[in-house]
Amino acid sequence: MNLYFRDYHAGSRLALVRRVDAPASGNPPVLRSEEAGGYEQLRLARDAACFASDHAALAPVNREVWQQLADGDIITVNEEGLVHRLFSGRERAATVYLTGHCNSNCIMCPVSDEERRTSGGLADEAMMAYLQMLPADVRHITVTGGEPTLRTALFLRTMRTIAVRFRQADVLLLTNGRSFSLQGFLQELLHLCPAHLCVAIPLHAPEAGLHDAITRAPGSFVQTNEGIGNLLAQGIAVELRVVVSRKNAAYLPELADFIVAHYPEVHVVNFIGLETRGNCARHLQALYLDAPAAFRAVQPAVLKLMEHGIDVQLYNFPLCAVAPGFWEICRRSITPEKIRYALACGDCAARPYCGGFFQTTLAMTKPHVQPIPRTALFMDNRDTQDAHASERSGREV
Ligand code: SF4
Repeated sequence: MNLYFRDYHAGSRLALVRRVDAPASGNPPVLRSEEAGGYEQLRLARDAACFASDHAALAPVNREVWQQLADGDIITVNEEGLVHRLFSGRERAATVYLTGHCNSNCIMCPVSDEERRTSGGLADEAMMAYLQMLPADVRHITVTGGEPTLRTALFLRTMRTIAVRFRQADVLLLTNGRSFSLQGFLQELLHLCPAHLCVAIPLHAPEAGLHDAITRAPGSFVQTNEGIGNLLAQGIAVELRVVVSRKNAAYLPELADFIVAHYPEVHVVNFIGLETRGNCARHLQALYLDAPAAFRAVQPAVLKLMEHGIDVQLYNFPLCAVAPGFWEICRRSITPEKIRYALACGDCAARPYCGGFFQTTLAMTKPHVQPIPRTALFMDNRDTQDAHASERSGREV
């Protein structure tokens, strides 16, 4: 979302948006300090706005800001007036982004080295304020990075706050799992842990040489596997994520054997198509498989896992790249703002159910698509809204 306040001079802020529906007055809306609660609010009228804490006024408000910011949104505004939305008031799913930094440097990471180095996330107290601003009835929280456990103290504080404030929420932690090789760290988390926690960990190969070549972090295979084992031993749900590329495509059946042998109790295994930006875009030649080729590579591993009673899902696989018998395990995993479709998708009866492509993948690879005729579609009666809603919990990889 590229929004900005013109002529902005109020400094960087984290604020909860409150829309004021009173007729436009040309003056900043009046806001008594006691209305602000314990944290910053942005009172937004059609043509003016002000911050609650100090009545710093912003005027005029651009049309785009008025149209796109909703009541309940949580935003940051930087010194230049650029707005970044951390939470949408229209949804009940929240992302908690702790840091861009990571102790691995995966060759197919959709984030570039530069982004990871420079993106530090909110300051500690701003993160606590953000968690308090979120509505108490948030249903799904994704804690992510970079590697979110690297900010150790903030990570543990965040998880404890979530455990107390959002008792009913499903919490998905996206991590490379290496920190959980340390029993002391795991015990700190378990001290006050969200009740409905699932830890999603990438596993790239069945052996150290290839896994570590993909993460470009020597020792990561051993640490990640120790982390997975430690979490499972404590009864924490673990989701394994396998990003499919030229590097590991030939080894997926062996990886499935490895998972069956070592982690039969795993919650789910998700095979994930590439997002061609950041490191992935930089190493495109060495990594890229088109979606049909990625599906052909994945299929035997999927069947092996299913034969052993392990749930499997496919993320970032357009339906026309997948054999119809596997459509049910395809998830609309791409964040709605990033989804794009090819021109030919306009003729496809499956488009309402298809997760499409990342904007960057479509632009860079110009994939061939095969529109699916209505006669081939077995999901005619499936409710599109349900399809959208059911994917929310697993999206954004
Ligand atoms: S043609 Fe387009 S909309 Fe249809 S399944 Fe393929 S990618 Fe999805």
